[in-house]
Amino acid sequence: MATLGPVSRDETVLRGLVRAGVDLFRLNLSHGTQEQHRETLRRVRRVASEEGCHLPVVLDLMGPRYRLGLIPDEPRMLKPNQQVVLGLEEQHPDLPVDPEILEHLQPEERVLIDSGLIELRVESKQGDRVQARVVNGGPIKTRKGINLPDTDLPFEVSEKDRSDIAFAVAEEADYLAASYVGEASHVEAIREVVSAAGGRIPIIAKIERKTAIETLNEITEAADGLMVARGDLGVEVPLYTVPVLQKKIVAAGRLSGKPVIVATQMLESMVEQPRPTRAEATDVANAVFDGADALMLSGETAAGKYPVLVVETMARIIQEAEDYVRSINQRHTIDPLGHVHARRTFALEADLSGGIGAEPSLEVPDMVSSAAVYAAEQLGVRRIVAFSQSGFTARLVARYRPGSPIMAFTPDPKVARQIQLVWGVRPFVAEFQVGSLEDIVNVVERELLEAKLVQRGDRIIILMGHPVRERPLTNLMRVHRIR
Ligand code: PEP
Repeated sequence: MATLGPVSRDETVLRGLVRAGVDLFRLNLSHGTQEQHRETLRRVRRVASEEGCHLPVVLDLMGPRYRLGLIPDEPRMLKPNQQVVLGLEEQHPDLPVDPEILEHLQPEERVLIDSGLIELRVESKQGDRVQARVVNGGPIKTRKGINLPDTDLPFEVSEKDRSDIAFAVAEEADYLAASYVGEASHVEAIREVVSAAGGRIPIIAKIERKTAIETLNEITEAADGLMVARGDLGVEVPLYTVPVLQKKIVAAGRLSGKPVIVATQMLESMVEQPRPTRAEATDVANAVFDGADALMLSGETAAGKYPVLVVETMARIIQEAEDYVRSINQRHTIDPLGHVHARRTFALEADLSGGIGAEPSLEVPDMVSSAAVYAAEQLGVRRIVAFSQSGFTARLVARYRPGSPIMAFTPDPKVARQIQLVWGVRPFVAEFQVGSLEDIVNVVERELLEAKLVQRGDRIIILMGHPVRERPLTNLMRVHRIR
């Protein structure tokens, strides 16, 4: 997943990114204008249709982000132990901030500035002036970001986010990423604004606040996907907890069948250099081992010197890591229990104590999907086909991380784009003007042969809710040999 920006939104680079392996794009609404984003989004759609692929676009909302006001004599040095006053800009305090911050900050709470480089601790409050002491000093400048990890701030969908949501609905964005959500009700508040604007856009909750970690299960239930937003997360919680939190967030998404994106600084050194560090390459591979659905590039592709090279580099590391995972899984699939167990070995053990598919309502679809993955591996089946109107069956199968790719057939181009985010899924748009099971098998056969994804004599497994017109959940698995 690549963030588009000044160095990559022109057509040549964009096409280069797609050919190098990008499966989905992010537009960061914290920067740029709607006009600019509209143009980029339409360009992505055009390139996708010319390249014959489904490229979803995630619009990333700014969320309730706070920044310092104007610092007249910047950069001003703050020294450890120094006392500073936070207030409204017109009062000319040491640090001008928004009124909501002054209203909600309490003594003993931390104020982090510039990605946490500078730390203050609140000592006292008098009306709309807050006195704080510098813990970690450094230079401060106008508009630097502020994080308040200890403060109970009310969540309101800002005017800017409302306008950006209306824009996303009008442009039929494939996903919205919700920044700084602290609990499930924040996701629901955004969903209400989307719905009031007349849209239905799946929401990816960016997990980047301490309270979001504390309410991860509820947020996972409320959202349609998760992002491990390691940039801000590493400011809001101690940095040394981020690797374990990444594993927990990925496991939470997988358990509930919702895609998870691992984001930020994955190949950061490639903003400037043509080769990544060994540690970055290892981080990318480890995110694959954790079971992430997508890995995101930010500044590397939006503003870096080597946007296409960075995608080629990431794609190779991912490929290598996935080949390794596949080879291990093949060695472990002896029986159904061993099959599930092998998939738990990658960091899932503590988090899957409820077991994959513990939700009773999903019993049948889940059993059919897991049986399909098991059968595919035992029978050496090359492709698993999910006939899926909403993308549900494809997501369910993906939870088991099968060794064979999942071909998802859907009648809806939008669903096709959206399931592109899901692990191992290749979407196809196919008309559902089909009645009998034989008709469906024929459509699948024809499309897979045409795309040269199977040969005559290959075995495939087809999954669906049957009869298709009644839209039941996944209840049928068919093992089929291509004629
Ligand atoms: C992050 O903080 O890691 C993140 C993805 O958010 P953004 O890039 O929008 O700041």
